[in-house]
Amino acid sequence: MKVLKNFQFNFIYNIIYKDLQSKKIKQVHTRFPPEPNGYLHIGHAKAICLNFGIAQYYNGKCNLRFDDTNPETGRIEYRESIKNDIKWLGFMWDGNIHYTTDYIEELYNYAIKLINKGLAYVDELSMDDIKKYRGTLKKSGKNSPYRSRSIKENLFQFSKMRDGGFTEGSACLRAKIDMSSHSIVMRDPVLYRIKYATHYRIGNSWCIYPTYDFSHCIADAIEGITHSLCTLEFQENRTLYNWILNNIDITTTHPAQYEFSRLNLAYTITSKRKLNILIKNNIVEGWDDPRMPTISGLRRRGYTAESIKEFCYRIGISKQDSLIKLSFLEACIRSYLNKSAPRIMAVINPIKIIITNLPQEHTENIRVPNHPNSPDMGTRIVIFSKEIFINKNDFSETALHTTLHKLTIGKEIRLRHSYIIKAEYLEKDTFGNLICIYCSYDPSTLNKHPKDGRKITGVIQWVSAYKYINTEFRFYNNLFLHSNLSTVKDFLHHVNPNSIITYKGFSENNEELLSDKKLINLCQIEREGYFTVEKSQKNTKTITPTIIFSRIVTLKTPKL
Ligand code: ATP
Ligand code: MG
Repeated sequence: MKVLKNFQFNFIYNIIYKDLQSKKIKQVHTRFPPEPNGYLHIGHAKAICLNFGIAQYYNGKCNLRFDDTNPETGRIEYRESIKNDIKWLGFMWDGNIHYTTDYIEELYNYAIKLINKGLAYVDELSMDDIKKYRGTLKKSGKNSPYRSRSIKENLFQFSKMRDGGFTEGSACLRAKIDMSSHSIVMRDPVLYRIKYATHYRIGNSWCIYPTYDFSHCIADAIEGITHSLCTLEFQENRTLYNWILNNIDITTTHPAQYEFSRLNLAYTITSKRKLNILIKNNIVEGWDDPRMPTISGLRRRGYTAESIKEFCYRIGISKQDSLIKLSFLEACIRSYLNKSAPRIMAVINPIKIIITNLPQEHTENIRVPNHPNSPDMGTRIVIFSKEIFINKNDFSETALHTTLHKLTIGKEIRLRHSYIIKAEYLEKDTFGNLICIYCSYDPSTLNKHPKDGRKITGVIQWVSAYKYINTEFRFYNNLFLHSNLSTVKDFLHHVNPNSIITYKGFSENNEELLSDKKLINLCQIEREGYFTVEKSQKNTKTITPTIIFSRIVTLKTPKL
């Protein structure tokens, strides 16, 4: 058994622990059953950490099963991305990959078994009528006129369904349970429907497909799953899960279904179908757009597998529905980045500073640490020169902001890793726009306090105007402006038009940023946040290379 962090433990671990202790099961066997209809998202990460995590902890097994009974949505691309994302998170399934369609013949035979027991019938009501006949929570349902068909008639009609003798939607196979059951799920649920679509894996060999309710429990039983863990929406379906297994007389152990609450993340959509709509509407560039809550999007954004797992373990598993704040997720990557990201100086909104008491050609190499607390991360050279850039926001024309540690006329400020400068006078164009700030510097203050003991508040970053790299900054914001998207009618009405904002600026001329070996692929820019670093593809032929800094997270949780 692996050592588990306290917060990783949850009620499902306890159930399994008891089942092992009481010898109800010899070995725990879970499964992760994605539908290959899109890329995995952060909600799936929670289910993955639970299913694979339990198997790891109790030396059990976890299957990967593609729940691929919808021929219209399955795709090889999705299947491959799902496999890749699970492995990237650091998990591996037991043995071969399973597919619900592996059991398509067996499932068909189990359906025949139910018909032979008088427990299933072919219904020719339209889908609308089936819905109408089903009743409501307050009103009991009504029997379909096709419910009393003989077994022989049902066997004939079901094989006609399989042979393509019906049009789509004109017939389905239903379980014969109880149209007045207090549980709507038990009011003769649909077991098979007709779909004339080419399946990405089994082609056109079948035109009838089992529903999730019918196939899931049987696939679990065939694979010897001991604990079938799913989200709370399936709580009601548990009775049906057990009804089907009890009535098909399965000989293997009867798997037990347990439910936990799904992950709902503020300002985030966790549904493959809806995420696909964002792509189709060109709101994002694709499944791995850094704004997407997909595993591949988070990876591109700069999240590590460890940080995603840490998040899943921290939020825990319970039966309580909740909306998790985004800052929870961000905190998990921030603590990793704080330790591992080298610091880089860059200015986003540059304004030139000219140092009056330096000769025009003056440049000076200053050795600076890459990380304030980790000397083993080494040092680098930054160039100090007569002309430098600072961020315009670090300067204020009025003295009102002196408390905010800004540079103002007549006030001194420290340049990070360098000298103290004092703003003397400004140059403006005819429209009154600021062109540059003339400053004097104190040559005795290179990384030293002034000798006369005067106190300097504020440290700002800067970049040499003689040697710098053209830089693009990409700032990502939430994709949506509404925090609880499960409560809105149309999520597309709440898309944030400013989910990506780009700026042009400059960064220090750091050889490692430009290196083809990608020596630095993430960094911290003081006050701005943690960034991934990419070399621009577009500008490879231009003389000045461009670096793209894409923000992973801010340095601190922003105050709302
Ligand atoms: P989606 O709407 O994104 O397709 P789904 O539940 O239909 O979600 P599946 O591919 O069928 O997706 O899900 C595979 C597994 O992942 C299921 O066991 C499901 O319960 C789990 N899962 C999906 N979304 C979440 C979530 N938000 N939180 C926790 N588990 C989830
Ligand atoms: Mg689904």
